[in-house]
Amino acid sequence: MKWYSTEGRSPSVSLRQAVLKGLAPDRGLYMPERIPVLPESFFRELPEMDFVSIGCTVAAAFFGEDVPKEELDRIVGETLSFDCPAVPVEKDIWSLELFHGPTLAFKDVGARFMARLLGWFTEGESRTVDVLVATSGDTGSAVANGFLGVPGTRVHVLYPKGRVSPIQECQFTTFGQNITALEIDGSFDDCQALVKKAFLDPDLQAVLTLTSANSINVARFLPQSFYYFYGYAQLARQGEADRLVVCVPSGNFGNICAALVARRMGLPVVRFIAANNSNDVFFQYLQDGIYRSRPSIRTLANAMDVGDPSNFARILDLYGYDWNRIRADVSGCVVDDAAIVETIADCFQRTGYLLDPHGACGYRALKEGLRPGETGLFCETAHPAKFRETVEAATGQPVTAPKRLLAFLSGKKSVISLPADFAAFKSYLLGRV
Ligand SMILES: *Cc1c(COP(=O)(O)O)cnc(C)c1O
Repeated sequence: MKWYSTEGRSPSVSLRQAVLKGLAPDRGLYMPERIPVLPESFFRELPEMDFVSIGCTVAAAFFGEDVPKEELDRIVGETLSFDCPAVPVEKDIWSLELFHGPTLAFKDVGARFMARLLGWFTEGESRTVDVLVATSGDTGSAVANGFLGVPGTRVHVLYPKGRVSPIQECQFTTFGQNITALEIDGSFDDCQALVKKAFLDPDLQAVLTLTSANSINVARFLPQSFYYFYGYAQLARQGEADRLVVCVPSGNFGNICAALVARRMGLPVVRFIAANNSNDVFFQYLQDGIYRSRPSIRTLANAMDVGDPSNFARILDLYGYDWNRIRADVSGCVVDDAAIVETIADCFQRTGYLLDPHGACGYRALKEGLRPGETGLFCETAHPAKFRETVEAATGQPVTAPKRLLAFLSGKKSVISLPADFAAFKSYLLGRV
């Protein structure tokens, strides 16, 4: 399968090139030249299938021509080493818990898959691959964890100084080995801009093999579709999958894009809701068809603090740049900080279910947007213990942190501080050669 750029000004490439390059030379995002529709027999069997078998089938549809089945099945199996259970919260509302991986956020799925696929592509090569990743919180830890100890790779995590939670920070600054944390004096958008610029810099291209592990990378974004099929399967098994609405708390829009792709592959979802925090560029676009990026603002759901979501380009591409078609499938909702706190408290008091600030946006958007006869499934994208301060203040109850989270807190922190300036970042990278 070939992969084309959403900008259409650079040639289509192989899977290997798309994964190694991350971003296309024309600054577009790679998309599969066709979206395979899965056969009816697959959907008949789906309710009885386990997570790994579902993942193997979906992965084969996109990557099967380029990666031998045995390798691909191994990569999927190693990626999905944890469950993503669909848990009932209240009548008609289910939580798809995506936080049971090693770093307690959904990004573990894409990051683990990408690290393994990249490792397979570069096996036996002498040149080191430098993986650049900008993080607003959870990407850094998931990617660092996915790549930790993968031979032939070095990971550079760029994060906005003072804008990630202390627990998040520990999760990508304490690994050591092939992982370096770069504290940037700026916003997430600044970090993302530095990464994008590095890919287009001829001096860096000449001496380094750079790749991106942000959700722009096809190897990170597409595997996220696995759990939408699995979520549907779990609901279908219990006869609860009729008129399914999927709600995704969105920042860079990679996760919801994977959901939209899953539907193109045949997954029976009636519509989608993209939940925003106060960074509501996409919501505003749905209102009037005009996309106005703006600097991100800080919120309690900080992994969604994105003012210019990268994967918006993929949504436009998927829908042929047609605003009306997008609006027919996807609605929006804005959940500000006050509503996040209120929602965590209210949901906990009424149902006993503990939301994190991102999941709270998803749950709230479903509560407001679900119509009679529909069943809602929202992504709970992080474990509430990662946002202990917010969650405890909202509920008045202590949050118990899983052991693997506490382990990060006792590690030794090591960071390099840089200004939000490309020349400084470039000289740092050249210094690694
Ligand atoms: C990254 C992240 C999001 C946003 O996902 P996108 O794919 O960037 O839209 C939501 N919640 C959490 C906890 C995250 O880490």
